[in-house]
Amino acid sequence: MKNWTPRQQWFYALLAVGALAVVLGWTVETETMLLCTLIALTAVSIWQMLVVPKDRPSSPEEVDHERIATLMARLDRYRLSLSALPEGVILIRRGMTVEWCNPAADRHLGVNLDEHMGIWIQSAIKSQKVRDYLHDGVFDEPIMVASNEPGHELLLRVYVADDTHVIIVTQDITEQRRIDAMRKDFVANVSHELRTPLTVITGFLDMILHGDEMPPETRQRQLELMKDEASRMHSLVNDLLALSRLENHDESERRHPDIVSMSRMVKSLFEEAKTISNGFHRLSLVVETDTAVEGYPNELRSACMNLITNALRYTPRDGEIEIRWSYDERRKVAVFAVKDTGIGISSKDLPRLTERFYRVDKSRSRETGGTGLGLAIVKHVAMNNRAQLKIESELGQGSTFSLEFPSIILIR
Ligand code: ADP
Repeated sequence: MKNWTPRQQWFYALLAVGALAVVLGWTVETETMLLCTLIALTAVSIWQMLVVPKDRPSSPEEVDHERIATLMARLDRYRLSLSALPEGVILIRRGMTVEWCNPAADRHLGVNLDEHMGIWIQSAIKSQKVRDYLHDGVFDEPIMVASNEPGHELLLRVYVADDTHVIIVTQDITEQRRIDAMRKDFVANVSHELRTPLTVITGFLDMILHGDEMPPETRQRQLELMKDEASRMHSLVNDLLALSRLENHDESERRHPDIVSMSRMVKSLFEEAKTISNGFHRLSLVVETDTAVEGYPNELRSACMNLITNALRYTPRDGEIEIRWSYDERRKVAVFAVKDTGIGISSKDLPRLTERFYRVDKSRSRETGGTGLGLAIVKHVAMNNRAQLKIESELGQGSTFSLEFPSIILIR
């Protein structure tokens, strides 16, 4: 009876009540029979409600089925998560055959389930270095290997999961290596930039401290050179700090952008440019629009001034420099542009100009007080202020450097 379903239990109970009614129908009066049947039906209902458990316990087969379904669902979730990982994962069974792997393992080592499931790992992997590593069986240190993706490098580790399984995990470290190389280059560049003026200053100081008496004009000249070198170091440190501030800026710490009246700023920059040029160049100013932008005034001022200073540096005597603030109705952008008739830049150098310390002509940049960081700063300012730096140039003809502000940040 324990295995009867509730429906069966009802059926048999009502059958019993029916049989009782038939027996009573022969032996007693109709009223008594009806009363007894009613009592019996009420008793069956109460029995169903109170005695028969509502959730019938599942049979052992049903319990197993449910458990397997839950485990399969969990396994699918794990597989899905591992498949989404950027790291390559290969599960290897004892005997070194491939049991499972994710799509990244195919990209990294060319191992995939369609081809290699149940196959000996040594024949699934092409890289001899990885095969030797697996063969040696000493997995204390990871190894670096070339990825199947051209130009990519991997860090490969093997984890012993249990007595029967090991896991190969590969991580693409190309980007990390590139950043490390950039950092090393940067430190080397900064050291180099500081060493040159320091060598000049210490050399002169030695001469002054230990050298013979020298004419006052010579000493004066040496002191002036030392001052130039010191101010070069000062500019370098200032630019480095500016760059680091721009690079490390945290959105949450930044105050809200201001409304910057570019026409007013451009006019004041033009006055500054005239002072620096000191009549050396032919300067002109064109302000075609009153459009203001949403941005950070100090950053924008320093970026625009950088472009103007470059034009002054790389344009020979009597060359023309035009500073312009305009609005391009067709493209819906406001443009700050500095156009010069200076030395120009060859097309091969153009893509690298905004790299830190990249200079087309090192000695000319140094002579004119350049740090090689100006355009890197301008590029960062442009990014922080949602503008775009555009460079057009022709060697020997001149250049135009522009900052373009899209309409979303314009106030007209
Ligand atoms: P620097 O301090 O050397 O001027 P920048 O980052 O400002 O450094 O510029 C990088 C290089 O781009 C310069 O060294 C120079 O070779 C080139 N350059 C920048 N502006 C101009 C320009 N207006 N005309 C010609 N070359 C320029």
